[in-house]
Amino acid sequence: MNFLEERIIKDGIVKEGNVLKVDSFLNHQMDIALFDQIGKEFKRRFAKEKINKIVTVEASGIGIACIVARHFNVPVVFAKKSKSINIEGEMYVAEVESFTHKCKNQVIVSKKFLNPEDHVLIIDDFLANGCALQGLISIVNEAGASVEGIGIVIEKGFQSGGQIIRNLGYHLESLAIVDAMDASTGKVTFREQPEW
Ligand code: 5GP
Repeated sequence: MNFLEERIIKDGIVKEGNVLKVDSFLNHQMDIALFDQIGKEFKRRFAKEKINKIVTVEASGIGIACIVARHFNVPVVFAKKSKSINIEGEMYVAEVESFTHKCKNQVIVSKKFLNPEDHVLIIDDFLANGCALQGLISIVNEAGASVEGIGIVIEKGFQSGGQIIRNLGYHLESLAIVDAMDASTGKVTFREQPEW
């Protein structure tokens, strides 16, 4: 078991509706020493890729992306959730359906901050059905930039996102893959992964 899986077992809470709550260390209170280990591991896994920018989506991706970015020494651009409609022209726009909040959001990135010279690593906290990632991928593609890799902290392997994204040919690395979880017992089962 890797350090992240151990932490999920210790502090994660399985909720009804296939939601894993990790707000004591990942996406509300944030354990920065853990984020630093996460950044180091992503740097190792994407060592061969040429990356000059990290892209994530607000809110919970931002903290992780910033610490990961220290290991790559590159800036972070986060897609903003926006309700305004009069933004086309200066912005790249994608529609994203939230798994946890069950609502649709437009996410936007200013055209100033993504361009065809960019080699992007996309970072997010969770991968469930893949909607957030597909929105970010479409924004990077619209900019003419290239997606060099995708780093996810926790993938829920029993939902379809991971398979969809891998089938599209992207280099996706998830540090912990949950294959099953049970809200009545609190048990979480991880997919076997190669040692780090
Ligand atoms: P997707 O778009 O892949 O269906 O969902 C990804 C987004 O939903 C993530 O950015 C994350 O914020 C949220 N999310 C999905 N599943 C979970 C979960 O089990 N726990 C938490 N805390 N967030 C989740």
